[in-house]
Amino acid sequence: MKSILVTGGAGFIGSHLCERLLLENNRVICVDNFLTGKKENIIGFLNNPNFKLIEKDIVEPISVEEKIDEIYNLACPASPIHYQKDPVQTMKINTIGMINVLNLAKEKGAKILQASTSEVYGDPEVHPQTEEYRGNVNPDGPRACYDEGKRCAETLCFDYLRTYNLKIKIVRIFNTYGPNMAVDDGRVVSNFILQALENEDITVYGDGLQTRSFCYVGELVDGLMKMMNTEDSVTGPINLGNPVEFTVLELAEKVIQLTGAESKIIHQVLPVDDPRQRKPDITKAKNILNWDPKINLEEGLLKTIEYFKAKV
Ligand code: NAD
Ligand code: UDP
Repeated sequence: MKSILVTGGAGFIGSHLCERLLLENNRVICVDNFLTGKKENIIGFLNNPNFKLIEKDIVEPISVEEKIDEIYNLACPASPIHYQKDPVQTMKINTIGMINVLNLAKEKGAKILQASTSEVYGDPEVHPQTEEYRGNVNPDGPRACYDEGKRCAETLCFDYLRTYNLKIKIVRIFNTYGPNMAVDDGRVVSNFILQALENEDITVYGDGLQTRSFCYVGELVDGLMKMMNTEDSVTGPINLGNPVEFTVLELAEKVIQLTGAESKIIHQVLPVDDPRQRKPDITKAKNILNWDPKINLEEGLLKTIEYFKAKV
């Protein structure tokens, strides 16, 4: 039985990952301080003898008695409204927190997978984004605490590889959605579904012609686990995301159609530095991981709508 530590395990993606790892008969240690994660996401695992919750901020040094074979580092607020609420803390999570998790991996001789992000490409001038593209990030803007923080976290992983020969894996996750997103998450898919279910106005920021590519969470988790199971020479970074691109307006229309809502689309101010376009090139994930997401937006949205219907 492998012993696997998941930081951010009570969050949206982390809770799905913990579930899958438990189903595959692993011991799972979840480290979370519930900054944006929810107890209800992991409540079903608390009685499982193979599951352990450590309520802790990764910005403080982490010590764990038992052996650890693998670490997935997901701890970090991911929604723009949450990571911008306390930008200095977001930077600390991605620097001091990253160092603490890397030190734990070093001490335990564990492999570590870092959940990086498409935000490292900033407002990209290369489309679709390949891993070779070095990005267009504004270091002084309100998103920088997250974008530059995650870029720094990648650097730290490679520094630990070069200095201590640590086994590292970096994935750059593109917009992912599905059940277990928090009602107050603030990202586009959960906002639109919740607004539609209440027949409220759908808030499209800017003209809505900016694009995103949406991946269903179950498939993203497959990609994370496939990456962890590659041989040590595979470090990434590797993009993980569904490469089918939509405008935000198209997403709004689809949500209205699938919920049968009577909501109107209204336009609100576009946040500063909001990327105009985003779509992953997943050639590497296909070739190296044999990973190719198949769940289309409509299918994934229907599952997510069912989840939120039960919430509201
Ligand atoms: P989320 O906010 O739902 O989950 C983050 C989890 O980390 C929460 O449970 C939160 O309480 C925990 N956390 C935050 N700071 C912590 C700290 N200092 N110590 C301990 N725990 C802490 O977000 P998510 O969408 O599940 O994202 C998970 C990871 O994937 C994040 O690192 C995020 O940057 C990355 N990612 C997500 C997406 C996406 O579309 N969902 C895209 C790119 C990258
Ligand atoms: N967005 C929107 N309305 C909302 C929330 C978000 O139009 O209620 C837009 C946002 O401006 C961005 C896209 O949807 O262009 C995706 O935003 P999200 O916060 O989900 O993630 P991002 O990709 O920006 O990190």
